Amino acid sequence: MRVFCASIATETNTFSPLRTDFSDFEQSFYAPPGQHPATPTLCSAVFPALRKRAAEGSIELIEGTATWAEPGGLVNAPTWLRLRNEVLDQLKAALPLDAAIFGLHGAMITDGCVDCEGDLLEAVRQIVGPDCRVGASFDPHSHLSEKRVRNADVITVFKEFPHTDFVEAGEACVDLTLKSARGEITPATSVFDVRMIDVLPTSIQPMRGFIDKLKQLEQSGTILSASVIHGFMAGDSPDLGARIIVVTNNEKAKGDRLARDLGMELFSFRGRAAPEFLTPNEALGRADASSRFPVVIADVWDNPGGGVAGDSTIMLQHVMEMGLQGVAVGTIWDPMAVRLCFAAGEGAEFDLRFGGKTSAHAGQPIDATVKVIRLVENAVQSFGTSVVPLGNSAAIRIGDLDIVLNTNRSQAFSPDLFTNLGVDISRKRILIVKSTNHFHGAFAPIAGEILYAAIDGPYPNDPRRTAYTRLKRALWPMVEDPHQEELA
Ligand SMILES: [Zn+2]
Repeated sequence: MRVFCASIATETNTFSPLRTDFSDFEQSFYAPPGQHPATPTLCSAVFPALRKRAAEGSIELIEGTATWAEPGGLVNAPTWLRLRNEVLDQLKAALPLDAAIFGLHGAMITDGCVDCEGDLLEAVRQIVGPDCRVGASFDPHSHLSEKRVRNADVITVFKEFPHTDFVEAGEACVDLTLKSARGEITPATSVFDVRMIDVLPTSIQPMRGFIDKLKQLEQSGTILSASVIHGFMAGDSPDLGARIIVVTNNEKAKGDRLARDLGMELFSFRGRAAPEFLTPNEALGRADASSRFPVVIADVWDNPGGGVAGDSTIMLQHVMEMGLQGVAVGTIWDPMAVRLCFAAGEGAEFDLRFGGKTSAHAGQPIDATVKVIRLVENAVQSFGTSVVPLGNSAAIRIGDLDIVLNTNRSQAFSPDLFTNLGVDISRKRILIVKSTNHFHGAFAPIAGEILYAAIDGPYPNDPRRTAYTRLKRALWPMVEDPHQEELA
């Protein structure tokens, strides 16, 4: 059996001041055919899953390109066309095929295309024909279009947010697509439009129980797969919003009913699935008064994983104004400041301006006399089994305050973003990280307490106030009861 795989992935915040081009893909992750590492990345977990089967001799694998750019602003059209055509040319050269499997994110938007993944899957279908099985794995923070559903035989989505199960989702996509190609199953996909956009972390209730229920449905053999698309509120897409996907073994009517029931259950969670969001002063005050250290505070909306810059200084300014001791902040994106730190050298003390450069909503730059504690070329942090590049990075100290500055924008995934830069987190009282929820998996085991601070900064965090231009469907919270409105 001949199987092709490729991966093109990024998440586009169409409201971000940033722009994304090919160099962003190169800087984050770009692997031409055959050069994918042994470890998976978030969206390319189908590669190692397929290599395992190729090594066992059950398939002949033809690898295409795998690439990922850290979430950012609009992708420029030439970059998308280059990557799209590169993969489609590889696909054509790999014919004839029994299956083609793609590791996608699902929220990529360019200045010429609002549904890149739908466009890709449609082109793939035209090339491979109706008999080749097409599988795609998506991030839940994506826009599920009808075009994607029509052109893929199997769709799987990470169930967990934080996405600690990306390897399982890639494995499931490969497993179901290959079974379908062997004629062992006939996947039928049912989709229900939940008509809401919300933040849905699965580390807490009610989503925790909901995801466990989906897993039980899969394990019991009732269905082949069930997934939740959360939607991505920073993307101006006509397909914005949550969806339920149920894949049955040729039982479409049963899948439709189940997708609807699960969808309305998810809809009932609206407005109560997110953790408590505090103001910066509330979060810092509560952390300072805690007896369980370190307290981890997530700067939830300055999250590079949501496509903003990650250079906001607002939390840090509050820390300095409050005179808090034993605080570490990671990371603030500032390639220019890192360059100056490298030029100054480890141990140097000098006046540095850093942070607050890319958005009017991200606070003022900080001017301070800093000590350079550690410099690391091509620093990394871990995210599960994947390795995330931070680029050249510097740990700087102001009094008792340690700050990690990085060159490759990246959200905070793991405490090793501090320890790899020589910051001893066991001696810290408060760790401030830029992430909405992906930090949770690796920070929870070392945290005395976890708090969420919401700053009304560069991220469009309230859909009622966001100027969506492409949305034609009624969604909660813009409409109180969109399902009623639909029926009327
Ligand atoms: Zn995501």
